[in-house]
Amino acid sequence: MNSNGAVMNEWKLREQMCEIGRRVYNKGFAAANDGNISYRLSEDRVLCTPTRVSKGFMKPDDLCIVDLEGKQVSGKRKRSSEILLHLAVMKVRADVRSVVHCHPPHATAFAIAREPVPKCLMPEFEVFLGEVAIAPYETPGGQPFANTVLPYVKDTDTILLANHGTLTYGSDLEDAYFKTEIIDAYCRILILVKQLGRVHFYDDTKAAELIKLKPNLGIADPRLERGLENCDLCGNSLFREGYHENQPEPRVFIHPKIAESVPHQSPIEALLTPRPSLPNQPGGSTPAPASGASAPSSNGHASGANADAEALVRAITDQVMQALNGSAR
Ligand SMILES: [Zn+2]
Repeated sequence: MNSNGAVMNEWKLREQMCEIGRRVYNKGFAAANDGNISYRLSEDRVLCTPTRVSKGFMKPDDLCIVDLEGKQVSGKRKRSSEILLHLAVMKVRADVRSVVHCHPPHATAFAIAREPVPKCLMPEFEVFLGEVAIAPYETPGGQPFANTVLPYVKDTDTILLANHGTLTYGSDLEDAYFKTEIIDAYCRILILVKQLGRVHFYDDTKAAELIKLKPNLGIADPRLERGLENCDLCGNSLFREGYHENQPEPRVFIHPKIAESVPHQSPIEALLTPRPSLPNQPGGSTPAPASGASAPSSNGHASGANADAEALVRAITDQVMQALNGSAR
């Protein structure tokens, strides 16, 4: 916990919260009245932003104070309905003093795609954020929504809320806000990289070197406690739990280690190969890539359904060649 934060008087903190609100709004992280910010003043008192006020135009006396259950104890305006999300974090993490929630466009795009934020692509992201979780979707506002982040809060300071936005937290207002800036800047770069079409990852050894720098900078990382040796730092995720449906799986940024396990298929082969039916897959989710064991050999002689598929590919190819020969006359 930042000792400066403890001695700052409340008015200064209110001014600082308004300043962070202006940054959130001016960066385009929260349209209209979106977003909310909180700061723990004492064990059972939390300063927070009001509902239905633009975060870009708040005055210090617009802010509210609530207890750890979300009951408003002071302030002329009504507290944000999303404060329960902030309090859920503060109850689990004694070191967290401030929480920022908003909808930064690039990070929110990842949250809507439910694409895990890839690692081993950029050193600053690895050092200052590290593992990022995606919490499952829930209707915003109530306790069930706040509870969606609980499986991840201990192991990260940055959570994407599926189909919604971001949640970042830290030792003071600026620390919590900077994590929002970093995740959105990183996601923006990733979207640009994807447009260029080539993605190069650095390896697990280089990732471990970066994670080992973190204690010197005063940044905790649960992977250090678990040990970095023989660890799949680039391809794996700490966060496999807490999903009642649609666990996020990489579809856009796939680490070569994962891609290698998927056998090569031509697009037409992929279309014609019958996919195994997956048990317990809820409607609307995309099936996982076929495993090596169940996929057909790309050069061997296939039998049964695959033989039919090969015959069909040959027939289509013959027709295309005939058409091409015809048009060349
Ligand atoms: Zn929101």
